Amino acid sequence: MDHRLKSFWGLSVHFYSCNEHCGSSRIAKMLTLPSMETPIKPVSLHKTQFCSPFSSMSAFSLPATFRVKQRASKLFVMPRIRALDAAQPFDYEARIMEAHEKSSKLKIGIVGFGNYGQFLAKALIRQGHTVLAHSRSDYSDIAVKIGVSFFRDPHDLCEEHPEVILLCTSIISTESVLRSLPTQRLKRNTLFVDVLSVKEFPRNLFLQILPQEFDVLCTHPMFGPESGKDGWKGLPFVYEKVRIGSDEYKEDRCQKFLDIFAKEGCRMVEMSCSEHDRHAAESQFITHTVGRMLGKLELQSTPINTKGYETLLNLVENTSGDSFDLYYGLFMYNVNSTGQIERLDAAFDSLKRQLYGHLHDILRKQLFGNGKGSENLQRLAPPAVSRNGYGQEATACEVKQ
Ligand code: NAP
Repeated sequence: MDHRLKSFWGLSVHFYSCNEHCGSSRIAKMLTLPSMETPIKPVSLHKTQFCSPFSSMSAFSLPATFRVKQRASKLFVMPRIRALDAAQPFDYEARIMEAHEKSSKLKIGIVGFGNYGQFLAKALIRQGHTVLAHSRSDYSDIAVKIGVSFFRDPHDLCEEHPEVILLCTSIISTESVLRSLPTQRLKRNTLFVDVLSVKEFPRNLFLQILPQEFDVLCTHPMFGPESGKDGWKGLPFVYEKVRIGSDEYKEDRCQKFLDIFAKEGCRMVEMSCSEHDRHAAESQFITHTVGRMLGKLELQSTPINTKGYETLLNLVENTSGDSFDLYYGLFMYNVNSTGQIERLDAAFDSLKRQLYGHLHDILRKQLFGNGKGSENLQRLAPPAVSRNGYGQEATACEVKQ
């Protein structure tokens, strides 16, 4: 078989005994023709890994003879092979790699394409997954820019049969959104995932509303567009496999989804939804509450910021970007949050009493010294602070009483 290739430096290259599948560009890539000064010799190649569809799996012995001729006179040159393992379109290995790549990709339908839905979609697209989206508002233009197919009608999204539905709606709208989704249009075999910042609530909702055949994975990536803007390495990703079918396909699909976050370097934490909510109320809810309280003070940067103050300013910035719906959801839909608000309240109260109690003590000493008469003033002192579990020292008043 004779494949005529491109001209190099006035040379036409002909290949003989070359497999039909050999593409000219491939061969051209693999050859570096020597300069015209190079002594020209006839050559035949043996034991060369070269342009067979089977060649990459094992060294394929191809007795290829090359004859290179100049337009008029016949010349033979020694081709030099430059890239033996370059991925080639007809490589068996490349095909296997391609098939493997495809099989590790998911078709994911995002429901709720607001701030967080878009943030996640960018990472999913970057990793090569197919992403569809639906939201209450029309995000068609943004979706095009990210590479996402946007569906105004949830029926259309479901008819695309995504393997995964990723719920990114606000916590407080989750129930109505879920109940209005035409789940009958999805494949019976669909994985439902949520990223809500509270976990018991969606878990119970999924189990209550979704058909028994659907798999359920509850997750909480514990970072957002602000805290995760420089990458997700080391950031916690909490999940509970609430209901994952035992067949291989379902387990594999769930794992592929989790791998998205593992590949980005997240710290994967498997934890029950109730345990998550307990920890999150103590950490995340308090963080958001303090951030919002400080936000109300409208703190400004000063020329003499301490590191601690910079931390506070960062906290305000980190939390102010989130919607009030999100914060309200953290409060309303996590049973542990109400207790935390009360603890914060009591702690601030206790701190004030401690300060004022101390002040009273000093004032008393100034007014009366150590002499008599201070007993009368003691009656005016604020009531004693109980040892309420916050680990605080008793106030001066408390000691005296
Ligand atoms: P969000 O205010 O909690 O949610 C906004 C999303 O909810 C938008 O997609 C919005 O749709 C949708 N939505 C709101 N009300 C709706 C209603 N009545 N009917 C239908 N859809 C409604 O802000 P977010 O930051 O994007 O958070 C989305 C989810 O991700 C929340 O569950 C949150 O807990 C979770 N999450 C957020 C972060 C974060 O850092 N932001 C981190 C981890 C997890 P439209 O835009 O179309 O109106």
